Amino acid sequence: MVTGRRVGVLALQGDFREHLGVLAGLGVDAVPVRRARELDDVAGLVIPGGESTVMDKLSRAFGLRDPLRQRIAAGMPVYGTCAGLIMLADRVLDALPDQQTLGGLDVTVRRNAFGNQLDSFETDLAVVGFDGPPVHAAFIRAPIVEQLGPAAEAIATVDGGRVVAVQQGNLLGTSFHPEITGETRFHERFLSRL
Ligand code: GLN
Repeated sequence: MVTGRRVGVLALQGDFREHLGVLAGLGVDAVPVRRARELDDVAGLVIPGGESTVMDKLSRAFGLRDPLRQRIAAGMPVYGTCAGLIMLADRVLDALPDQQTLGGLDVTVRRNAFGNQLDSFETDLAVVGFDGPPVHAAFIRAPIVEQLGPAAEAIATVDGGRVVAVQQGNLLGTSFHPEITGETRFHERFLSRL
């Protein structure tokens, strides 16, 4: 899938290398983004998994928070996985007291929502809009989407209704990590919005 347009992966912290690998495998020109001027050169952005509290602090320290918020508001396609989904959420439960997000997705997410016993697990999911086999999804200290505003669509659930993937226009978020299980359909869905 060659789009001819460069995309970025926010590379402040987390598993950005895995996302760069998936995008390169799809034939996409993908670059790490750590500076505001690097953001100017990309048509879309992936926000990786990692630790949302750290990503938040680093995005502020690197002067990226406001440019990121402006690009999201201007309609840039963004795909966030796990901590990346948290960064895209307008509201976060079980956040640190001073934790901020970039926002854009009209959803409320709860951090580390599966509890200690289910800290990490894998399962197969049906996803709205995907043909072919179910998605094999890896959850690692994952958030869930507890509430969705009217513009946000739940596209995958576990356990009879807990929302773990959401789309709102050009914004896509998953609680899990397709970048580590060889799943490329979410990246392709993101790229189709460029
Ligand atoms: N628990 C992490 C957070 O709150 C997310 C974990 C992940 O990205 N795998 O940011």
